[in-house]
Amino acid sequence: MLSCMRCSRQFGDREIVWRCPCGGTLRLSGYGAAPSDGRGIWRYLRGLPLDASRIVSMGEGDTPLIECRFGGRAAWFKLDYLAPTGSYKDRGMAVLVSWLRSAGVTHVVEDSSGNAGSSMAAYCAAGGIACDVYVPDYTSSGKCVQIEAYGARLVRVPGTREDTTRAAERAGQERTSFYASHNWSPWFLQGIKTWFLEVFDALPEVRNVVVPVGQGSIALGARLAMEELRAAGRLERLPRILAVQPAHCDPLARAFEAGLDEPVRIEKKETAAEGIASAEPVRGAEVLRAVRETDGGFVTVSEAEIWSAHSSLCHAGLYVEPTSAAAAAGWDKLCGAGRIDAAEPTVVYLSGIGLKATDKIAGHVQ
Ligand SMILES: [Zn+2]
Repeated sequence: MLSCMRCSRQFGDREIVWRCPCGGTLRLSGYGAAPSDGRGIWRYLRGLPLDASRIVSMGEGDTPLIECRFGGRAAWFKLDYLAPTGSYKDRGMAVLVSWLRSAGVTHVVEDSSGNAGSSMAAYCAAGGIACDVYVPDYTSSGKCVQIEAYGARLVRVPGTREDTTRAAERAGQERTSFYASHNWSPWFLQGIKTWFLEVFDALPEVRNVVVPVGQGSIALGARLAMEELRAAGRLERLPRILAVQPAHCDPLARAFEAGLDEPVRIEKKETAAEGIASAEPVRGAEVLRAVRETDGGFVTVSEAEIWSAHSSLCHAGLYVEPTSAAAAAGWDKLCGAGRIDAAEPTVVYLSGIGLKATDKIAGHVQ
């Protein structure tokens, strides 16, 4: 059952809506997290009301969780950049596109900073859905090439990430296509939640998860998974969600520090962490609530800290995009400030592969 987070209006599972007419975000609830047969993410999604013959899957999920040591510190790293399209978005996109097919949608518009667009283009290609992807014109060329290679129509939008969103929303209204925004989609979050369910199955004693946050889907997915695990009697004390934002784009970190319930308006500056450069996160209030409910917190990282962490990860054999390095930088900072106890099992989330951002990384390799 779909319901509005603002006015509680309910919608049917196959209704082709991306948000409530009141402007509120939608939530899909009532499906447990009990693992079943099946592989990858589908092990956790058996109850979802999808048409089995319409599922689009390329083997997403089941990514490695490895222990790494940096300097004197150790943590577990969830390598979600090892996904079919090279980013964690595939977990959510497999579910979102399977739902689009179940609902009979044949043409979609998506807006993305790059990774979600690549993922949407790939799953739409596999599922036979026509797809237009709107990206900010500063998006890494690796992601743009990938989107077009899958056969999607790429539309570059000058200006900010938010200008891109507005252009895609307009296109979704004007054409006979559906605005399938992953940021708004409750189906997308159902897929994303599986990252934490995998972590919990492998490391039930996990105490902290350190995640990069732009729109916040990784944090929201973790919170959703924790809620389901607690409802099933498998988890009592929620692990802390520690959210990392670049200092150049930190509307949620500032709101958290100020005790506010909504993201604050900021003047965004350019950041290497383009995947989390979201000045107006649509589920911002939900992210703030999720972090507070787990007794978690926010930390911001500078561009220099992002690149330093990127270098450390590379030297450990982990080739990720700068957005993912922000999470490692945040973890390092939280440990240094005593906000993470070194003895506590901590998972750092790596979301996107470095090959996506070759042009940006090239300028920083010594
Ligand atoms: Zn509503």
